[in-house]
Amino acid sequence: MSIQKVGVIGAGTMGNGIAHVFAASGHSVILCDIEQSILDRALATITKNLDRALAKNKITEAQKTETLHRIKPVTNRSAVSDCDFMVEAASEKFELKSELFRELDRICRSEVILASNTSSISITKLGAATRRADKVIGMHFFNPVPVMALVEIVRGLATSNETFQAVRELAMKLGKTPVEVNDAPGFVSNRVLMPLLNEAMYAVMEGVATPEAVDEVFKLGMAHPMGPLTLAYFIGLDICLDIMRVMHNDLGDPKYRPSPLLIKMVDAGRLGKKSGQGFYKY
Ligand code: NAD
Repeated sequence: MSIQKVGVIGAGTMGNGIAHVFAASGHSVILCDIEQSILDRALATITKNLDRALAKNKITEAQKTETLHRIKPVTNRSAVSDCDFMVEAASEKFELKSELFRELDRICRSEVILASNTSSISITKLGAATRRADKVIGMHFFNPVPVMALVEIVRGLATSNETFQAVRELAMKLGKTPVEVNDAPGFVSNRVLMPLLNEAMYAVMEGVATPEAVDEVFKLGMAHPMGPLTLAYFIGLDICLDIMRVMHNDLGDPKYRPSPLLIKMVDAGRLGKKSGQGFYKY
């Protein structure tokens, strides 16, 4: 099946980046979120990121204009019904995602692949919410999407080889490097990364070091480009908490217990970059 028109559900941190890379590679994109103000912010972010690429001579002015013209923002989900491929990048809540998959299954053509950008939720369970579990797959991009090379491609129990190959090829067309993983809470990336971020928050909570010192240890001692608390700031503290909760519930191991400090930060509305506040000023 030829994939020309792509639907992206959710225009937050990840959705705007996913729309950006699909549009930049020549696809027309329907970008859907629940409020116009969120779509306006997403378009402003895409424009800013294109301007940055333009300033570095990575794209031309014409490419910037064409990319923006290919993205149609909508608040009405039925506008994705004629898309050839779907990527869901809505908030990391199972009930929301399974409801969205049920709806996409109802409104999209039967041959259309439904991919989720989920960080941790079971692709097998999302597939089971549809009548096309063989065409449900994880397509897990990394933040910031236009910059990061990796796409984790997650096979659910029922995902077909045909679906897997189609998504693998699509990721390569976007200039990304696909890595195949099986369906398990947090897949590979967040299974390993999130406990590190969570433990850094425990260290701060227990007074082992300041947030700045924790980040400095990782930058200078482990050559990480940014420390774990800065990374959590960019990911979104709410997303970090949602991922820890999925791994804690689904793996049942107390080592995945979310740090009480992380819970407190999210309760206070300090969600990182998206709300302008994290563990310290950046
Ligand atoms: P976000 O909070 O920035 O954005 C989520 C968006 O989904 C919001 O704009 C929200 O309004 C929208 N949304 C909620 N319900 C919706 C609905 N019914 N229809 C349409 N839109 C709806 O979150 P994010 O960081 O972009 O994360 C999105 C997904 O990507 C999550 O599954 C997350 O786990 C995953 N992810 C996040 C990162 C990251 O670094 N933030 C990295 C990889 C994957």
